[in-house]
Amino acid sequence: MSVHREFVPNNEKYVSSFDKGHLALPPARHLTVVTCMDARIEPASQLGINLGDAHVIRNAGGSTKEALRSIVISQRLLGTREVAVFHHTGCGMLTFTNEHLRDKVKSEAPGNEVVAKAVDSIDFLPFPQLEESVKADVKFLKENPLLLEGTTVTGWTYDVTTGKIKQVV
Ligand SMILES: [Zn+2]
Repeated sequence: MSVHREFVPNNEKYVSSFDKGHLALPPARHLTVVTCMDARIEPASQLGINLGDAHVIRNAGGSTKEALRSIVISQRLLGTREVAVFHHTGCGMLTFTNEHLRDKVKSEAPGNEVVAKAVDSIDFLPFPQLEESVKADVKFLKENPLLLEGTTVTGWTYDVTTGKIKQVV
């Protein structure tokens, strides 16, 4: 059974006690969190962020490069002034290279040049070392001309086995 069949009954329960309809569009804490799409990560409870407090931008690995479009919107249109970058232990991004994934996609569509060209054009942004990748992503953001001057940027790791966070930069 597809999971989506559970959405409506679950949502009805949520709506029955929902009382946050008054929240404003701009995040109340002026914070943007960039983190991985990993299913074990749930920034709201892990960091004490309430509904309406922050933007949470998620992608494979928690890449600031990929998140840049959303960060510019978050800062320029919705007033956020702080960015916290989280990468985590056991991340899938530590387990492959661009060549790996490109070869896999191509082998699943043998002889298909359209697929080959499309997948070759994507940098999947894998990384071989956790803390170094946090530092590199924070550096990318701090050096980016589109980041608002004076933005506080911090970098962190999250341990999926203990639930603990650690500041790296
Ligand atoms: Zn991950």
